[in-house]
Amino acid sequence: MSKNCDMIKDLLPLYADDVCSEESRKAVEEHINSCPDCKAELEKLRKSVTVSPQKDTAVLKRIKRRLRIEKLVVGLISVFAICGILLFGLMYLINTDKSMDVKRYDIPNNVYVTEHDGMLLFCVKDGAASFDLLYPTFSDTNGNHLTYDKAYDKDKKNGIGYTLKQRKISSFALNDFGNLYPFAYQIGTVEKLKEKNIEKVFYYDDVNDKEYILWESGKND
Ligand SMILES: [Zn+2]
Repeated sequence: MSKNCDMIKDLLPLYADDVCSEESRKAVEEHINSCPDCKAELEKLRKSVTVSPQKDTAVLKRIKRRLRIEKLVVGLISVFAICGILLFGLMYLINTDKSMDVKRYDIPNNVYVTEHDGMLLFCVKDGAASFDLLYPTFSDTNGNHLTYDKAYDKDKKNGIGYTLKQRKISSFALNDFGNLYPFAYQIGTVEKLKEKNIEKVFYYDDVNDKEYILWESGKND
């Protein structure tokens, strides 16, 4: 092995990768034509850098499998996320109320108060009976409307009102208004209301802040 061989062997990896200078390339080619030793060395280098097709396929298969698994995981996460959003939306629709449309459910004609043996009854019939919630309100002498459990001035309280609410989702449901059961709710005795200075019972349209008087003290006695 000549001194030249050492130098050429240093160049061989670069030559094999085709990244050496033009001069080096010529030197290597000239040398390996006359030196079987270095030629063999070059062949060895070339074999080691060339990936066999079989190996290539195995690597590709592994990458493909990995991609499939990643796709599956991303897909599952997306499905869970979408289900979560749908469930949340459904819960929102089921659990959120809105006041019934006064015109659509003909509230002035379908809601009234009757007196039976001194007991006042809040009655609902027809389409209005598709309500889900009876929402009580108080009025005071200043014309304010107060929610049932809100702190209020007892001496100023002068009326009790009700608002019919329905689930938001009810607007999606078909409703033929045909076979709804009329509903009656005991408000209290006339005597009791007088004790509490309640002078009126009304339907409260909280969307338009409007009262529909259903009963007034002294007018029906
Ligand atoms: Zn050589």
